[in-house]
Amino acid sequence: MSWEEMYTEETTCPCGEGRIKQIVYDDDWNRYLNGPVVIECEKCSKRYIVETISTNSGLPSDGSVIVHFLTPKDYPEYSGSSEVKAYGNAANPNWDYTGWLIENFTEDELKNAEEQLLRTKSSANLIGVAAKIRDTHKRALKTVCVGAILASVEEALNLYPEYRGNKLQREELRKKEKIEMTAYRNEKRKYQIRLELRRNSSCQKQLYQKK
Ligand SMILES: [Zn+2]
Repeated sequence: MSWEEMYTEETTCPCGEGRIKQIVYDDDWNRYLNGPVVIECEKCSKRYIVETISTNSGLPSDGSVIVHFLTPKDYPEYSGSSEVKAYGNAANPNWDYTGWLIENFTEDELKNAEEQLLRTKSSANLIGVAAKIRDTHKRALKTVCVGAILASVEEALNLYPEYRGNKLQREELRKKEKIEMTAYRNEKRKYQIRLELRRNSSCQKQLYQKK
């Protein structure tokens, strides 16, 4: 199988002296693939970068909407609140179960689970938050033994005060980040040029002849 050039989509660059082009390919199974959007103008390629925004998977066949913008090269990067910058990536329960507990439950929720664990001999009796912890404990640490779950919960409670990025801290920053990121994107949009790429007519003719 091989990808073949199907047609070119293009538009005039902002200075008017060059073109901005994207080649669209297809293969023997009628799948198609968009090549990169290329600024074929010396002046404009020095001033802009192409940024692509897509919904869903980014594949046109999945109904994604794909929009290309020219963004001034000197436009500043987002530098507002960032959950990952402040607290690092979210803990993976398989590698860091204690961290995962702290990031997904409040101190009160863990204390409630601890109380239940201290009162029962069988983890099958656990309810609410404690039952949720039992289920994830089983997946991550392969045991539903009350003693083992209790040890994990107590470790999380011990580390809680020192931990940076617990559930509530992350939630608060995530909300802030979402608001600031939206404001950043909206402001940036004023400086971006939306590209309306159109099928090149001469290539279109070839396409019709081919079919
Ligand atoms: Zn240009």
